[in-house]
Amino acid sequence: MSLPSPARIFCIGRNYDLHAAELGQGPASEPVVFMKPTSAIVADGGSARLPRGLGSVHHELELVLLLQTGGRELDAAAAAAAIGGATLGVDLTLRELQQTLKAAGLPWERAKAFDDSALLGRFLPATAAILDEVEMTLAVDGEIRQRGHTRQMRWSPVALVGWLSRCWQLQAGDVIYTGTPAGVGPVGAGSELAASSPTLGRYRWTLR
Ligand code: ZN
Repeated sequence: MSLPSPARIFCIGRNYDLHAAELGQGPASEPVVFMKPTSAIVADGGSARLPRGLGSVHHELELVLLLQTGGRELDAAAAAAAIGGATLGVDLTLRELQQTLKAAGLPWERAKAFDDSALLGRFLPATAAILDEVEMTLAVDGEIRQRGHTRQMRWSPVALVGWLSRCWQLQAGDVIYTGTPAGVGPVGAGSELAASSPTLGRYRWTLR
């Protein structure tokens, strides 16, 4: 499945309590949303150039949705029908810069939306029901760093689509990173990342 142009990338934060806890936050009462430009995408097998001199870059393994239809103020049935595909991705994050921006009450774009920050697998056809039972892992240089299951999500894929549609007229081709499970940590130039799931396949990227 390929992306139409232009497409949008929505990213959800604080969707897994154990990840919120490892960043020193309690359970969220509402998701956080931010966006990345499509120029941030690095496809399966690609190589991502990290920003230099801006502090540590963390990996965030995520289930990523692709919408096949859209709309506004979608109820649960319409939100489920809007989901047409899914894959795995990694939301690369300049963690120290993000903490500095958060502390200052500033937007997160420099920490989250930089070039090559959206590692993205290949979209496979997927229904909302399948996505409630996705197991996924991320290995860095062959060592498992993150292990997650979509049952651990605070908001399901359907709930997230419905929630986003209260602010945006969602459209076919919209991409949604759904937040990361626990186990985030630093990566650097030369790291090899491999995301895999029994349902959604296996994808690899190199950092430089
Ligand atoms: Zn993320």
